[in-house]
Amino acid sequence: MIQLPINIDYTGKVVVVTGAGGLICGAMARAFAQSGAKVAALDLNEDAVKKLADELKSEGFICEGYKANVLDKAVLEEVHQAVIADLGECDILVNGAGGNNPRATTDNEYQHEAFEGCKSFFDLAPDGIDFVFKLNFQGALLPTQVFAKDMVAKKKGCILNISSMNSYTPLTKIPAYSAAKAAISNFTQWLATHFAGTGIRCNAIAPGFLVSAQNYSLLFNEDGTPKPRSAKILAGTPMGRFVDASELLGGTLFLCDDKSASAISGIVLPIDCGFSAYSGV
Ligand code: NAD
Repeated sequence: MIQLPINIDYTGKVVVVTGAGGLICGAMARAFAQSGAKVAALDLNEDAVKKLADELKSEGFICEGYKANVLDKAVLEEVHQAVIADLGECDILVNGAGGNNPRATTDNEYQHEAFEGCKSFFDLAPDGIDFVFKLNFQGALLPTQVFAKDMVAKKKGCILNISSMNSYTPLTKIPAYSAAKAAISNFTQWLATHFAGTGIRCNAIAPGFLVSAQNYSLLFNEDGTPKPRSAKILAGTPMGRFVDASELLGGTLFLCDDKSASAISGIVLPIDCGFSAYSGV
C-alpha cells in the first residue's frame, strides 16, 4: 500500500496504463488500483507487470498484467480484447511507455567540446533517433488509436500522456527525446481538440527530474557519485531537489477524474519542483 496524496473514487473505472512495469507508471497503476479502479498494466516487460498485478491482487485490489509492445498495433488489438474480457472497456488510458536511449544521446553538451572518439551530434545513427522518436510518439499514438475507441463509444473518457521538461526547452545531449516529448505535448493538444466533441479529455503531465533506471547513468557515475549534470539540474531547480515518483500521483489522479477536472483538456501540467519556471538567474 502507498499513501495516496488525494482520495478520488475510481471504483468501476477501467484504467489502461502502458509502461506500467516502470518506475513512474508502476506507481500510477498502483495509485489507480488503490483508488478502486480495475487496472490493466501493459509493458514490454511481462515479468514486471505480472509481478505488479500479483502484488496488487494479494492486497485486494484489481489489476491484470499484459505483455504489450506499444509499437505493435496488432498486439495492442489483441491485448485490447483481453482487457475487455478480463476487466471491461477502457475508461482511462495512461500513455506511459517511453524513454531515451544511449544511441540517441551525444557524449558532449556542446559541439565545441567534442573530442576525438566521442559520440558527437554527427555520429548519432538514424536508427537510434528513430527508436526514441517512435517509442515516445507512436508509442502514445497507437495505444490511443486502439483504446480510445471504447471511450468514443461511451461518449466519455480520459487520456493522460507523459511529456517532460525537455518539451518546453530541449535538454542538451538528447535531441530526439526532447523533440519526441515536444511532439507529445503538441499531440496532447491535438487529441484534446480532436476528441472534444466526444466527451473525451486529454491532458499530459510533464515530470521534472526523477532519478530512475533510464536516466541514472546520465546523472550518476558508476560509483554513485553525482555527475556535473546532476549539479546543474539541481542548480536550475528552485526547490533544489529531484522529484519523487510519488509526487506525480496527485496530478495524475486529479487530471483523470471527470468531476475534479471536468473542464480541463489539452493542458500539460509541470510537476517539476519549479524547474520550468526558473530562468536560471
Ligand atoms: P522506466 O524506464 O522506469 O519505465 C518505462 C517502461 O516502459 C519500462 O517498464 C519499459 O519496459 C516500458 N517500455 C519500453 N518500451 C516499451 C514498448 N515498446 N512497449 C511497452 N512498454 C515499453 O521509465 P520512467 O522513468 O518510469 O518513465 C515513464 C515515462 O515518464 C516515460 O514516458 C518517460 O519518458 C517519462 N518521463 C520520465 C522522467 C524521469 O525523470 N524518469 C521524466 C519525465 C518524463
